[in-house]
Amino acid sequence: MAYDTNNIFAKILRGEAPSFKVYEDDKTYVMMDIMPQTVGHTLVLTKEPAINLFDLSDDAAQACVITAKKIAPAIMKVTNADGIVLSQFNGAAAGQTVDHVHFHLVPRYKGENVHE
Ligand code: 5GP
Repeated sequence: MAYDTNNIFAKILRGEAPSFKVYEDDKTYVMMDIMPQTVGHTLVLTKEPAINLFDLSDDAAQACVITAKKIAPAIMKVTNADGIVLSQFNGAAAGQTVDHVHFHLVPRYKGENVHE
């Protein structure tokens, strides 16, 4: 499957679709998820045109994880979260709905029913 330059995250990265940006650097873009699983659900996007983790360069993969590591404590602080999940899905069968590599940062709260 070829990378579709018209996927929604590619449009957001080009400034053609709106987003709530919380951080950006030369290799990554971080925004709030439009349908948050919990309060503070955030997405780390690579700026590389890659469908899944296996298409992504090592350099871009490293940049995403470094950004997630940098951003997660701030998300936890502003949301008062007790923990945070870093996850990433590859393929529709695994739950991937947008074919542009992104990592989820999902804050978790004590007393929540966690079943993932
Ligand atoms: P996936 O299931 O592909 O790993 O996750 C895609 C995520 O992107 C979902 O959590 C979904 O809510 C989010 N999402 C889909 N479209 C948009 C959008 O246009 N803007 C933002 N901010 N998030 C989106």
